[in-house]
Amino acid sequence: MLEKDNSINIERPRNLDDFIGQEKIKEKVKLLIESAKKQNKPLDHILLSGPPGLGKTSLAQIIANELGKDIKITSGPILDKKGDLAGILSSLDEGDILFIDEIHRLNPSVEEALYPAMEDFKIDIVIGKGTGSRSIRLDLPKFTLIGATTRVGMLTSPLLSRFGIVLNFDYYDIEALSKIVAEVVKKSNLSITKDASIEIAKRSRGTPRTAKMVVKRVIDFAVVKGIENISLEDTLEALEFFEIDENGLSILDKRYLEVLVKRYRGKPVGLNTIVSALSEDKYTVEETIEPYLIRMGFIEKTPRGRVPTEKAISLYSD
Ligand code: ADP
Repeated sequence: MLEKDNSINIERPRNLDDFIGQEKIKEKVKLLIESAKKQNKPLDHILLSGPPGLGKTSLAQIIANELGKDIKITSGPILDKKGDLAGILSSLDEGDILFIDEIHRLNPSVEEALYPAMEDFKIDIVIGKGTGSRSIRLDLPKFTLIGATTRVGMLTSPLLSRFGIVLNFDYYDIEALSKIVAEVVKKSNLSITKDASIEIAKRSRGTPRTAKMVVKRVIDFAVVKGIENISLEDTLEALEFFEIDENGLSILDKRYLEVLVKRYRGKPVGLNTIVSALSEDKYTVEETIEPYLIRMGFIEKTPRGRVPTEKAISLYSD
């Protein structure tokens, strides 16, 4: 149910200074941490919103680390009983962090129990069964909730209004991603040229998680070929070998575009039609596929449905 994660994790950045990009978010977080330390108070509850793989979980862990507090990590769909929530909350110490990923997917009874916990640090629990049962109110340590969501619009307004701070993550630019790539290479005791790390960044969907995956494949390639300083040429060879798309498109993105361009020949297509053509769930289509395709200018959302742009059509023109 719960993964306690305050161990040293070489995969994730540990300090704010190691967290690359998202400068505006970092500035705010730095100030909030300093203020909490000076006032000797727990941080206010924070909501992190943005597409998957942009560093929301990592930032929550960094905040805990910078504060010198513990963090407990769970997620909306996993935390499905009020009793589980009460259990986690009462196991925290003052100032500790509870991270709930996918917080828009909390079950309504758990969400309701969270309101007094966030606002007054109290939770009502029922003890006993049947006619002998009674509800008691427990005091909780003053904790900080960090919620993460890919869909801030799906949060209920009572929940949203209980967050003192909302930080919106945006896709990373090429410069930031290429730095993340270079860091991963450095940790493998290899080096990479600037143009090569930029090439990898371009294929990474604006997303650090993808950048890390792509660079690991390039490293695999370099290790096997005995390459110590990875050049653009080596990188292109590795990317071709692993069939990593020039535009950072995944197989799913390509299938999506094929539905629009080939099957429906550029006519507007409704979301439900796309979902069933891909045999994927709506959530994946709306959360992970479409935001990137829109951002890259491959599709547009119109009132009549999704349409491919010229750029998407040209991918299939020969
Ligand atoms: P999310 O919670 O938003 O899905 P994660 O925090 O799990 O994203 O990050 C995905 C991966 O990308 C992790 O391996 C993390 O270390 C890395 N990562 C994310 N953001 C950054 C960043 N700004 N700098 C360095 N690595 C990052």
